[in-house]
Amino acid sequence: MNPGARLVILGKQGAGKGTQAVRLSRHYVVPHVSTGDTFRAAVRSGSEFGKRAQKYLEAGELVPDEVVIGVVRERLTHDDTTHRGFVLDGFPRTVQQAEALMEIVVPQGLDVAIDLEIDTRVVLERLASRRVCSDCGANYSVSDNPPRVPGICDVCGGDVVQRDDDTEAAIRRRLELYDHETAPLVDWFDERGLLARMDGMGSPDQVTERLVTEIDRRKKFRPR
Ligand code: AMP
Repeated sequence: MNPGARLVILGKQGAGKGTQAVRLSRHYVVPHVSTGDTFRAAVRSGSEFGKRAQKYLEAGELVPDEVVIGVVRERLTHDDTTHRGFVLDGFPRTVQQAEALMEIVVPQGLDVAIDLEIDTRVVLERLASRRVCSDCGANYSVSDNPPRVPGICDVCGGDVVQRDDDTEAAIRRRLELYDHETAPLVDWFDERGLLARMDGMGSPDQVTERLVTEIDRRKKFRPR
């Protein structure tokens, strides 16, 4: 295995982005950078920044571009991400964010942006059973992948809960925003030769194997 990778994971809510991003970050030994986890942690901390983010998260609205871009710029200029790489999960979500990202990652650029494709029906089922650790962000599913002890995270012992924004109204709003704001990014990355459309159906292991094969193929063509 060749460590290091510079990856973006795109896909609808519930496509498995969080699950696959954690697995890929372990596989390539790079930080998992999730803007959603960053905002949820800020909300829990009760900071001023968190209070401002809270109203967007609860409504399922997007946090303003300049705020999110500032958070990602700060994180991607640390030594670990500049030297080893990153798995970006939940960013970019608008074309303006994507343009900012390509400036932030100069000169190395990205290896690939993966679009995890999945049926909307499956997405709704997955979101209804999704649970998340409120401390470390690990993902669970009450139907397919429950924690070993109900309500307790296998990884860190934190509380496993349903996300506040996994209500029917907020889910509907997030899927609508995905179609308007985020889906155009798929073509945006494709036009730059950076897109891999990947089937997100199947077990988490099957999907990870599929992604790693494609990422390794792309990495071969990129000088390090
Ligand atoms: P996620 O965990 O990726 O579904 O993100 C949860 C929520 O955090 C979203 O519904 C937004 O309110 C906010 N958020 C996360 N990432 C972004 C982003 N790139 N741009 C704007 N808002 C974001």
